[in-house]
Amino acid sequence: MVIKDVSKVGNRGVIFTFDDDITVYLIHTDRYWFLCDTHLGPQSMEGIKNYISMRSNEKEVIVFNSHSDWDHIWGNCVFQNGIIISHETCRKRMDEIGEFDLVRLTEFHRGVIKLVLPNLTFSDKITFAEDEIEFIYAPGHTIDSAVCFDRKDSVLFVGDLVEYPIPYLDFSDLEAYMKTLEFIKSFPARVKISSHSGIIDNALIDRNITYIKNIFEGNPIDPIVYQECPDVHNFNINNTLYLKYENMVREKLKDSFDYTSFRCEFGDLKKVSYTDLQEALELYLAHL
Ligand SMILES: [Zn+2]
Repeated sequence: MVIKDVSKVGNRGVIFTFDDDITVYLIHTDRYWFLCDTHLGPQSMEGIKNYISMRSNEKEVIVFNSHSDWDHIWGNCVFQNGIIISHETCRKRMDEIGEFDLVRLTEFHRGVIKLVLPNLTFSDKITFAEDEIEFIYAPGHTIDSAVCFDRKDSVLFVGDLVEYPIPYLDFSDLEAYMKTLEFIKSFPARVKISSHSGIIDNALIDRNITYIKNIFEGNPIDPIVYQECPDVHNFNINNTLYLKYENMVREKLKDSFDYTSFRCEFGDLKKVSYTDLQEALELYLAHL
């Protein structure tokens, strides 16, 4: 566990930034601690628990998962006896892909991880009125993405929905993603926080929208846009294709669709070439 930065936001929020530049956001209300995301495991959460115990240990910690990706949920097991909130598709997706990622990505484990799913889910939003905290469904980066709004401090935690220099595209509905980014852009929050890019501004949101729009319309992308992370861009191009096929295969196989066996067929989407992937997906579909 290495927390490299702890920054106060507003009157009751704290951003913890880990050595891999991933953040979690902690909000101290009169009744609870709200923790947005749990990073990579129990070791990461030790610093958060210490911070809490030095202030008010009697208050319950309520965890919120901004989405089900592994780098945001592996510390859930530390809080398994408490409330863990997410969008309803987040629980479902975590249940489907969680073990696959846990086994595949052992080098990123921080401590001994047990996959713990959210135990309180919502569809559009859930509000803790007394605490002035709201969790709102905001699909885009993934189907299960959601944001946390601290109304009192006017702070919005957006998870991976906004990212520098480009976002990861891991949901087939890019129009929904652009709509969500417009929603975030016009959201009346004083501060907006991204999991991987810290405090963000509207210029970055616009940049993300333009990138997605160009991918959606099949326009050529200027390499300068992704020069800092060509592998992410390659992933996005490949994953946009992969997700189309995944939907088709799901439809064909219905209940017998098995995520792990399907996903294992196509290697690392950051590295494979688009044409090789397309060929492999076509072949897979043809043999069903
Ligand atoms: Zn992430």
